[in-house]
Amino acid sequence: MSYSIHPIDLKFNGYALDIYSFLIKTESGPIIVESGPHSCLEALTKGLADHGYRKEDVKHVFLTHIHLDHAGGAWCFGEHGAKIYVHPLGFKHLHDPSRLLASAKMIYGKEMDRMWGTLRPIPADQFCVMEDGESREVLGLNFISHHTPGHAKHHTAWQLDSYLFTGDLAGIKHPEGAVIPPCPPPDINIDLWISSIDKVLSIKAIDTYYVTHGAKVDQVGDHMAALKHALTSFSAFVKPYHEKGVPPAEVLPEFAAFVRRFLTEQNLSTEAIDTFVNGGAIMADLMGLMRYWKKKEESNQA
Ligand SMILES: [Zn+2]
Repeated sequence: MSYSIHPIDLKFNGYALDIYSFLIKTESGPIIVESGPHSCLEALTKGLADHGYRKEDVKHVFLTHIHLDHAGGAWCFGEHGAKIYVHPLGFKHLHDPSRLLASAKMIYGKEMDRMWGTLRPIPADQFCVMEDGESREVLGLNFISHHTPGHAKHHTAWQLDSYLFTGDLAGIKHPEGAVIPPCPPPDINIDLWISSIDKVLSIKAIDTYYVTHGAKVDQVGDHMAALKHALTSFSAFVKPYHEKGVPPAEVLPEFAAFVRRFLTEQNLSTEAIDTFVNGGAIMADLMGLMRYWKKKEESNQA
């Protein structure tokens, strides 16, 4: 069965992050991996139209995890009867999004609508929940689910032949080349994340990644080595602040300076560094990493 993969830039207007959805064109119709946020539905609809599809034509949506930048718009396809493929732990939050919505509103407040849009329930019988290693034939293509916790507990990466749709497992691939780890609370677990990286690197059939925040990556070994370096550097920087009990708001200026130095070493331009550091995501990264060390300390004491 022949097919082709087309990254669609969702032109996300927040956090200085690129977000892509991936359209897979098959002889039997379209499949998408990642819906992106609801706020980007117009860009996604336009991207689909460029390939001759209407939103209603999409009957299969694969999600790597339920963070709003990846899955917030999935219900719009659910409304047209699309099947939603997801990790078992993600299913209930998309079926009944009240908790997801409440926690997002708490964080983003008035900015919620502009940044992410909204969420509506998806009927339970439209989900296809996939276990680790499980495969499924969809429009003649064989998708394999690889559970890959670390960034989120409900994270799965989707393999299609030699391609892997990595979600946030492979971090952010900045257009200028740097690899940056997205570390929002509440699930960040660096040890699990690195195990998940090793798990997918051991699948020899995979040689290309489609990264949600960065499109296509061919040098998968180099990319993951850079991500591991970034994960260990970011988490090591935060550790002593956790140990001394410094509140995140006080750590932020020093963390921002660290991120600037790190990105300078990765040869990012000053302009790109300013955009990234001022984009707002690094406070979430700092909170996520501090929470990681706190949970690790608690589990060591238990
Ligand atoms: Zn995420």
